[in-house]
Amino acid sequence: MKTSLRPKAIVVGAGIMGLAYAKTLAERGYSVDVFEKSEKASGSSIRNFGMVWPVGQPIGKLYNRAIKSREIWIELCKAANIWHKKTGSIQLLSNPLELELGKEFIERESFNREGLQLLDKKQTLSTLPLANKKNTLGAIFSGTEIIVEAREAIRRIPDYLSETQTIRFHFGCAVIEVMPNKIRTATNKTYEAEIIVICNGYELNTLYPSVFKAAPITISHLQMLRSERISAMIPAICAGLSFLHYKSYEKLPSSAIYEHWVKENYPKQHYHGIHLLISQNYQNQLTIGDSHDYGIHHDPFQLESVDDLILDYLNDVLEIPDFKIAQRWTGQYLKLKNGDSEWFQEIEQNVWVANGPGGAGMTLSFGMAEDTINQLIG
Ligand SMILES: Cc1cc2nc3c(=O)[nH]c(=O)nc-3n(C[C@H](O)[C@H](O)[C@H](O)COP(=O)(O)OP(=O)(O)OC[C@H]3O[C@@H](n4cnc5c(N)ncnc54)[C@H](O)[C@@H]3O)c2cc1C
Repeated sequence: MKTSLRPKAIVVGAGIMGLAYAKTLAERGYSVDVFEKSEKASGSSIRNFGMVWPVGQPIGKLYNRAIKSREIWIELCKAANIWHKKTGSIQLLSNPLELELGKEFIERESFNREGLQLLDKKQTLSTLPLANKKNTLGAIFSGTEIIVEAREAIRRIPDYLSETQTIRFHFGCAVIEVMPNKIRTATNKTYEAEIIVICNGYELNTLYPSVFKAAPITISHLQMLRSERISAMIPAICAGLSFLHYKSYEKLPSSAIYEHWVKENYPKQHYHGIHLLISQNYQNQLTIGDSHDYGIHHDPFQLESVDDLILDYLNDVLEIPDFKIAQRWTGQYLKLKNGDSEWFQEIEQNVWVANGPGGAGMTLSFGMAEDTINQLIG
């Protein structure tokens, strides 16, 4: 492929959002340079569960975007020989109110979603023998979720894209200034392009700090754990508290009464924004989380008590016999406070910010890049 005849694009950031925009722009005929300040991507995109999770997105634009992203993930992983698994997901329901919400969700949504079904207790325990036998009443099964090992996938995709597309990656190269059609790096080199897309994640103080200061944003700070390998193979899991965390569940008839119940029965989990997500990688290790603490600045100190609350809740819904924690870390992501999941805005001539999917960037970024670049250049 000849790069010299192509129009040029620059992408800042090699997290999932930067990778999605680089891929989409290259497919639309651009020669793309991606600048990433770290030697390897190390932001939100390598700290997550690797869940591509359409069941959490509301029907309409965001669900369609999640399904589009899922297709792209599968195609890309197959082409680049990156591990991925079509697990579907199980949401465990552990009390009558959760079971009622499960029924309401299925009744409202099953017409529009692939493979959605309510499992009774027997079906749940045969699909997931590790479900807590005493507490489990049933589950929502959804067929659309896939898992990748984020820390591997996000770092291997650049190799594949640079081999197969007109994309060059510049790792260890911070962009310190952006002007219309031009950027300057920390090594004082300048590069020019017809279009510049800033995919900076939660880094708010380097480029256009006044734009980020004025924007309706905050940063979510999450505690995460990884287990040593377990003997069982499990699907991707969430549980009742996730009814409070995804837009897809909003405004079910029993939503308000459930939130009240959670405040009474899981007050500490509610306070720390805890719900349970578990993904299993190809080494049978479990990635487990998470908590949510919101604010522009966070101290770097992880709270053992918050990890304990996550694990207490895990033990209410699952019984995992050979279970030992191997790693703990924190993750951050930028979150829009106006409830949107997309921030794509021209902040200076031909300079765009692409951000905003919050806790669903693995699920939405490929679809968002396709939709927004289609609108921009067809
Ligand atoms: C703990 C956790 C769990 C999550 N789980 C999931 C999940 O399972 N499924 C899901 O869909 N979503 C999940 N998310 C959300 C998802 O990870 C994020 O939405 C997504 O990774 C954001 O991608 P990004 O590319 O915008 O940001 P990042 O991944 O943070 O990438 C931004 C990159 O830009 C670089 N950068 C910034 N400024 C500059 C500069 N000036 N010059 C050069 N480089 C720069 C940074 O170094 C960074 O690598 C989770 C998030 C967290 C934190």
